[in-house]
Amino acid sequence: MPIKNGSQYIERINKQNLNLWYKGKKLTGPYSEHPLFSGLMKTQAALYDLQCEPEYKDRMTYPSPLTGEPVGISFLPPVTVADLKKRKEMIDLWSAKHHGFLGRSPDYMNTALMSLYTAADILEEHNPAHANNLRNYYAYCRDNDITLSHAFIQPSACKLSGQVDSIEDSIAAKVIEINDEGFVVSGAFMMATQGVTCDEMLVFPSPSITPIEDKNPYAFAFSIPNDLDGITFICRESNASEYLYDHPLSARFEEMDTLVIFDHVLVPHDRMFYYGDENVGYRLFTDGNFHTHIGHQIVSRYIAKTEFFLGLMESLAQEQNVSFDPNIVGQIAQIMTKLETFKALRIAAEEGSQKNEFGYCVPASSPLLAASIEFPKFYLEMVDMIQRLGSSGIIMIPSEADLSSEVGGYVEKYLHGLETTAKDRIALFRLAWELGAGAFGGRQSQFERFFFGNAQTVNFRMFNSYDNHEDYQQLIQNFLGTQKKITEDQDLINHYER
Ligand SMILES: Cc1cc2nc3c(=O)[nH]c(=O)nc-3n(C[C@H](O)[C@H](O)[C@H](O)COP(=O)(O)OP(=O)(O)OC[C@H]3O[C@@H](n4cnc5c(N)ncnc54)[C@H](O)[C@@H]3O)c2cc1C
Repeated sequence: MPIKNGSQYIERINKQNLNLWYKGKKLTGPYSEHPLFSGLMKTQAALYDLQCEPEYKDRMTYPSPLTGEPVGISFLPPVTVADLKKRKEMIDLWSAKHHGFLGRSPDYMNTALMSLYTAADILEEHNPAHANNLRNYYAYCRDNDITLSHAFIQPSACKLSGQVDSIEDSIAAKVIEINDEGFVVSGAFMMATQGVTCDEMLVFPSPSITPIEDKNPYAFAFSIPNDLDGITFICRESNASEYLYDHPLSARFEEMDTLVIFDHVLVPHDRMFYYGDENVGYRLFTDGNFHTHIGHQIVSRYIAKTEFFLGLMESLAQEQNVSFDPNIVGQIAQIMTKLETFKALRIAAEEGSQKNEFGYCVPASSPLLAASIEFPKFYLEMVDMIQRLGSSGIIMIPSEADLSSEVGGYVEKYLHGLETTAKDRIALFRLAWELGAGAFGGRQSQFERFFFGNAQTVNFRMFNSYDNHEDYQQLIQNFLGTQKKITEDQDLINHYER
């Protein structure tokens, strides 16, 4: 099946029967009717509907090279700058719908899989069957519009255990047996955002190193359906809501994060993409330009989210009649400056793109890395601006039920604005509260800080994207007229690469 629409998305998720837990109770489907997932699934279904609308189909799809049927442009491996721009346009159309609040809108993982696919050639030397597996799986996801989540990061107990315990005792994610049917895998992953609301999961841990082993059992990547035997999902506490007025963001965009446990899960042979050599996994990331392609998807989300904050700041200022206060103008100008910066960085990445050794067009990485370092910091500044401008208004926000109750008259009399009814004014402040002071906003802040790696790792990605550190040092030597030997600590750089 080529591109799917919203009902087909929902139908497939509802068919799954997961071992899914929330607050000590096992949850059963259909998940689209469960308050934990219904709002998010409606939003995601609307994204899939959009790509099927005649008005948008041309901008959101391209013919599958296998079947000629329309498939999502976020799967398109870019070969030209025009392809990059097509991808951007498609991603922008979805971002404009979710305003950057869906960190895992399907184009994120479609892009991730596309990037790994572009490096499938490197698997030929390692294991040609695995190269085929990756290519076939990519084509399967593209031609069937599979919705993917991913599990890369392990709990700290597992990361530590992989480094210090024997392979037998270790609780790090590992292959414990290989048999005729496939690879038996056990372990745990800290976070699969949208694990439940996707069809399948890409699993790709950062492996512990085992120098004594012939094959490193911690080094592998595969993708599987969510409902295989032995997989357990444990949900974090939910912020989801059924009330659009009271919780305008979490009623639409609450992406559940799950702890995923693998207990002797059988991964079929044709779903394994590499095994046994951590360097191969590392090269899939680097030669596939994983962080760069993903960075190009992410910057569209940053732009959409910054625009949303800009709109909210302007609306709160207008509502409180302080639009021309110099302090507020200064803050709004700061948001505008960053918005222009993110847009410019995206243009710089596209215009600076280059063909890689496999013939694919890769955006320039440094501008995208700059955006991925700047946005998480500025995001927190924008949250702070909302808190300060919202003041007590983002706390005293009676619910829709209050407004239609016996006390609704009091709320209307005392909480209206200069030109707005209490209902409209409270709607605006409830939005500011969710973003600036509520649990949904708290999770968004933590997501923006960490979803692309901890700050140290992201900084090293930027540091390593420059290969001419010596030139800059030489510039200073030339200026001072001194002559010091310039060296780089390559071990340190390698340590932070992954
Ligand atoms: C909301 C949310 C959703 C997520 N969704 C997903 C998902 O869908 N799939 C997935 O695989 N992962 C997901 N992640 C995980 C994310 O990728 C990780 O949080 C991130 O890579 C950081 O890893 P970690 O949490 O293990 O922390 P660590 O990297 O272990 O860091 C722990 C602490 O140590 C500090 N630290 C680490 N290294 C250094 C250093 N060298 N020097 C100084 N300080 C250091 C960090 O700053 C941090 O304070 C999600 C995370 C969040 C918060």
